[in-house]
Amino acid sequence: MSAAPRLISYQSIETGGGGIGVVEASHHTGFDAKRIYFLHGMSGDDVRGNHAHKSLRQFIFCVAGQVRVTLEGSAGRFVFDLTTEPSGILIPPGYWRELDCFAPGTVVVVLASEEYDEADYIRDYGAFTDWLATNSKLSAVPYIPLDRQHRDLSFQLERAMEDVIKSGIFVGGPAVARFEAEFARLCETAQAVGCSNGLDALVVALEAVGIGPGHDVVVPANSFIASALAVSITGATPVFADIDPDTYGITAETLEAAITPRSAAVMPVHLYGIPVDMDGIGRVAAAHGLKLIEDVAQAHGATFRGRTCGSFGDAAGFSFYPTKVLGALGDAGAVTTNDPQLAERIRLICNYGSRKKYHHEIAGRNCRLDPIQAAALCAKLAHLASWNERRHTLANRYLKGLAPVNWLTLPRVPDDRVPAWHVFPIRVNLRSRDELAYYLAQRGIQTNLHYPLPIHLQPAYAHLGYKPGAFPVTEASSRELLSLPLDPYHTDAEIDRVIEVLSGF
Ligand SMILES: *Cc1c(COP(=O)(O)O)cnc(C)c1O
Repeated sequence: MSAAPRLISYQSIETGGGGIGVVEASHHTGFDAKRIYFLHGMSGDDVRGNHAHKSLRQFIFCVAGQVRVTLEGSAGRFVFDLTTEPSGILIPPGYWRELDCFAPGTVVVVLASEEYDEADYIRDYGAFTDWLATNSKLSAVPYIPLDRQHRDLSFQLERAMEDVIKSGIFVGGPAVARFEAEFARLCETAQAVGCSNGLDALVVALEAVGIGPGHDVVVPANSFIASALAVSITGATPVFADIDPDTYGITAETLEAAITPRSAAVMPVHLYGIPVDMDGIGRVAAAHGLKLIEDVAQAHGATFRGRTCGSFGDAAGFSFYPTKVLGALGDAGAVTTNDPQLAERIRLICNYGSRKKYHHEIAGRNCRLDPIQAAALCAKLAHLASWNERRHTLANRYLKGLAPVNWLTLPRVPDDRVPAWHVFPIRVNLRSRDELAYYLAQRGIQTNLHYPLPIHLQPAYAHLGYKPGAFPVTEASSRELLSLPLDPYHTDAEIDRVIEVLSGF
C-alpha cells in the first residue's frame, strides 16, 4: 500500500533562445535516482509500459512531444497527459502503467529509485491484479503510516537537518526565526514563538497572561491530559467543563456552568482538529473578564468562520509531537499571539527570562524550540495545506461510506468550521465499542481510543474531588468513541477497506 501517483513541477528557465529544464533529482522526487531511462522513436499507436514494479519508485517526464500515461494501483486509476510543461509524475511502487497516444518526436525520461532488477517487475496484467488483491487484502491498515510521510520527504528532511548542522547554530538562529515567521503567517497571527513541546507552549502562554496560584482555569474534561496539566503547572487549578456531543469541544453553556469566582481564564481545545464555537466562547470569556488561551495541539490550519484556529484568543499553544497534524521529528511546540508585547514576554519566559546574556529580568525557564526541529517543520509546513485537504477528502469518504451503518453516530460538524481531522471519531453506542475495536484489529485495522479515562476521573486529579457522573457527555464519549485510521498518506483503498470491514461487523 502506498500513496497515489502525483504531478510534481520541476524548474524551467527561459534563456531567450530556448530554455533549460532542471530536475534536481532528489529534491523533486524524494529519492536518489539510480538509473535513467529514455523512450524515443515511438509512433502514434505504440503502447509502452505494460508492467508494474513491486518496490521501485519512478519519476517520469516528457522533454519533447506529448504522451498519455495511465496508472492503476491501490489508490485507483489515474490518467495524465504529459507535455513539455515542466512537471512529471511521481509513481509510487505497485502501479501498472501504460503509455500511449505518442505525438511524433516524443521523448520521455524516467528516473528510477533503484538499479535494474528483473525480480521487481510484474509483466503480466493478470499476475499484477492478483498481486494487488493479495497485497491490499493482507496488508494491515495502520492507524498513522508515518513511515510513508518520512519516505516521501526523506530528502527534504535530511537536507533541512544537514543545513542546521553545517550552520553550527544549535540553539535559536535563522532556522527557528524562519519557522516562526512561516507559522505565524499560516495562523494569521502577528507572531509565533517556537517552544520545546505542546505542554510547555500552553504553560508559557498561561504564565505570560498572568495565570498562577489562586486562579481557576476552565478546561474540557475530554482532552489529552496536557490541557489540564498546563494549568496545574502554573500553580492554578483546572476546573472542568463538559463537551458538545457532536463537535466534542466545550460550548458557551458548559463554559458558563464551570465559572467560579476565581475563574481567570478558559482554555478551549479544538479536539480531534474540530474547531470549537469561538464566537460563543469568546462572548462568555469577555463577559466574565477571562483570558482566552486556545489549545490547538490537534488543529493546525483548521478554521472557524474563515478564521484560523490559534488566532482567536490572547494566545494559543500548538504541539508538533510527531503524530500531530503537523509533526516534528521529536518534541516541539509553539505559541501564537497577536499581541507583540505578549510575544516578547513569552520569548523571555522561554529563554531563562533573559534578553541579554547573564542578565535575567524574570525567573524564566528553558523551553526553546530546537533549530533542527524548526528546519524539519519548515520542510513539512509546505505540505500542510495539501495534507489537510487530503484529510478532508478522506473524512468525507468515511462520512459518505459509513452513513448507511445505522448503529453508529458520525461526527456532525457545522458548515462554519473546516476541521483539520487529526482524529476521525465515531460514536458506537448501540453496540460494544470494545468488541468492534477487537474485530477490526483481528482484520488488521488499527484504531485508537481518545480518551478512555476522562481527565476529571484520572488518579492525578483525584484531589479535586470530581465524581463519576459529573460530566455525562465526556463520560459517555470515553466509553463510546473509537478513532478510525485517517492520515493524508492513507490510500482511498485503505479507507474503503475500513468502511467495508466495519460495515460487516
Ligand atoms: C498533544 C497534545 C498536547 C501536548 O503536546 P506535547 O507536544 O505532547 O507536549 C496538549 N494538548 C492536546 C489536546 C494534545 O493533543
